Amino acid sequence: MSKKHNFSAGPCILPQEVFQKSAEAILDFNGSGLSLLEISHRSKDFVAVMDEARAIVKRLLNLSDAYEVLYLGGGASLQFAMVPYNLMPSENGKAAYLNTGTWAASAIKEGKKFGTVDIVGSSKEENYAFIPKNYTVGNEYDYFHCTSNNTIYGTQMKQFPKVDTLLVCDMSSDIFSRAIDFTQFDLIYAGAQKNMGPAGTTLVVVKKEILGKTGRDIPSMLDYALHIAKESMYNTPPVFPIYASLLTLQHLEKTGGIAAAEARNEAKAALLYSEIDRNPLFETFCMKEDRSLMNVSFKLIDDTKKEEFDNAWKAAGISGLNGHRSLGGYRASLYNAMPIESVQILVDVMQNLK
Ligand SMILES: *Cc1c(COP(=O)(O)O)cnc(C)c1O
Repeated sequence: MSKKHNFSAGPCILPQEVFQKSAEAILDFNGSGLSLLEISHRSKDFVAVMDEARAIVKRLLNLSDAYEVLYLGGGASLQFAMVPYNLMPSENGKAAYLNTGTWAASAIKEGKKFGTVDIVGSSKEENYAFIPKNYTVGNEYDYFHCTSNNTIYGTQMKQFPKVDTLLVCDMSSDIFSRAIDFTQFDLIYAGAQKNMGPAGTTLVVVKKEILGKTGRDIPSMLDYALHIAKESMYNTPPVFPIYASLLTLQHLEKTGGIAAAEARNEAKAALLYSEIDRNPLFETFCMKEDRSLMNVSFKLIDDTKKEEFDNAWKAAGISGLNGHRSLGGYRASLYNAMPIESVQILVDVMQNLK
């Protein structure tokens, strides 16, 4: 069975080296005669994994010790609740949110359970085809929450607003994909399974000084400050996804870090978008200026070609190209591990469709 060209939006493609090394660690971790899956998370070997998995994130994102790195369970979806729990005061809590897609809307829904939520910009009425831009966020808010990349609709924030409050960002589907100034954020979170590892752990990067100000009695497992005090080992952490995430980040560091990944990601996206723009059979769902480098959502203009196109990409060894059920069409996810050669194969299939 030859390896497929995996365009899945998540869980998704990872470097082949990561699959290999994680498989080896399951059988024999570091020559210890034990599997990674059977050793104590408090053993010297695993503590070293956790320490390095936290340290490498700060190196790659260029962050000082003002920031803490956590690997938590519960998916990015749990962060939709943990963020307001930890940042919105129990009395008169008020946060601003940008509504740019399905995940942003889920974050808004959870935020409302903790206080007042104002939606300062939304493209919902236009089926999330763009990123709202002209809004201001004043200091009457406890924080501003945005989603850097809209995995389903294929839009991406190219710039982040200067806000007069804390800047919180869900970067699940584009963290480590482009060189931006990460110090502008006070809290970043990302489910691992889009661009940094397998499902099962969520990365949280948080500025320590913003915590402990809500007056809430936060349940232990939902309390960032407690997880920081316990160095992300308050309870048994998801050891395997953390280890595989570490391998992915080590691979990224070895291959030139985020700046080099960004250059590769730009080349891949340019290759595919230029074919969509050139080819009269295809179009994207969203506005050009907000197109995502990570998730290219597009459709056939003439739906009678669907069967022929679907058969052709499947025959070319492509997998995971179907669009999200809420949008339809197609979605080619071009995460860091996607080689440009696979994108070229998709482009060839599109060019051969007549
Ligand atoms: C996938 C995704 C989520 C949800 O992640 P889970 O880990 O499944 O909870 C949240 N936000 C964005 C932007 C995503 O792409």
